[in-house]
Amino acid sequence: MIQEAARTRNPKSVTLSPQRRAPIAPSRNFRDAAPMISPPLRIGDRLIAPGERVNVNLPLPSLYTQSPVFLPLQVMHGHRPGPCLFVTAAVHGDEINGVEIIRRLMEWHALRHLRGTLLAVPVVNVYGFVRQSRYLPDRRDLNRSFPGSETGSLAARVAFTLVREVVERATHGIDLHTGAIHRDNLPQVRANLDADGDGALALARVFGAPVILNADLRDGSLRAEAAARGVPVLVYEAGEALRFDELAIRAGLRGVQCVMRHLGMIKGVGLRRGPNAAAPVVARSSLWVRAHQSGVLRSLTPLGSRVAHGDRLGIITDPFRNTEDPVEAPVSGVVIGRTNLPLVTEGEALYHIARFGRPQAAARTVERFQSELDPDADLDPESGPPIV
Ligand SMILES: [Zn+2]
Repeated sequence: MIQEAARTRNPKSVTLSPQRRAPIAPSRNFRDAAPMISPPLRIGDRLIAPGERVNVNLPLPSLYTQSPVFLPLQVMHGHRPGPCLFVTAAVHGDEINGVEIIRRLMEWHALRHLRGTLLAVPVVNVYGFVRQSRYLPDRRDLNRSFPGSETGSLAARVAFTLVREVVERATHGIDLHTGAIHRDNLPQVRANLDADGDGALALARVFGAPVILNADLRDGSLRAEAAARGVPVLVYEAGEALRFDELAIRAGLRGVQCVMRHLGMIKGVGLRRGPNAAAPVVARSSLWVRAHQSGVLRSLTPLGSRVAHGDRLGIITDPFRNTEDPVEAPVSGVVIGRTNLPLVTEGEALYHIARFGRPQAAARTVERFQSELDPDADLDPESGPPIV
């Protein structure tokens, strides 16, 4: 985000000098120290007092037009000590549902009684965000560039700044993503279930998205880098790039709120989950069904559908010869991702199917979840009218 766009209505905005590096506050030791009041928190060259809420603009390399660029942080440093949670969005610059999730989160009244520290980064990849692109201007993927370095590529420098100022201070993290462009994801949380030494699975269950997907750590990702530092990070995936999706936004906001309450950062606040709220279902594996020929796809299967082996998911047609070629499900499961673009090339990923031990129960969970967060039901007057 360039400097003008980074201004918010919060008057306590501060811009840091790029030359100065701040010492790291020992926020992870809150249990040992157990003071009644949080110690001040240093980010960049800014000292943040307990109870303060400030915007901090961390300097990044400027544009070639000489416009300065900053990484904007919203810091809420509670009076009382507690966990330090970071929430990041738009690590891929075109994935914007998380930007809106963080906007709503920062308006949550309960934050006035925050215990611990919330570090919100609504737009991590500011260069991609202003270009409406997943990548950096040098075409690198920021989520393959961690931990980064001070002297590396542009992506490496952004990653380095985020790690130094945010990840190193955190005890927990939530990284908000969407599907890629023209691809829609059912709200889901990714966690490594096979090597869960860091408690990410417990957090994933608390988050409450309908599906938890077993996903290995990827080299260079924010999640992998944080995990290597002992900071469990949930990756939330919901909706499509460059689009707002009200259900995905509501589910993400509620998920972050549930995690904060679980961590003891917020107390005595209802979570607006109904008494029949479904527990998330865990998928052990998933696969993408790919186009076996090029053509125009007529999709017959919405997100969240339960499919059985051999079911017809869609039909690829040849607009020049009136041929039809069905796309069939190679396994049973629930469709948790799909393409929204009917123009497909052979080999292209069309449907993402998650496999469950009990697919029927998984499908019921998804249905209950969708009706619980139905944008037509006014569940959250604090968030304002739904985006439609
Ligand atoms: Zn992403």
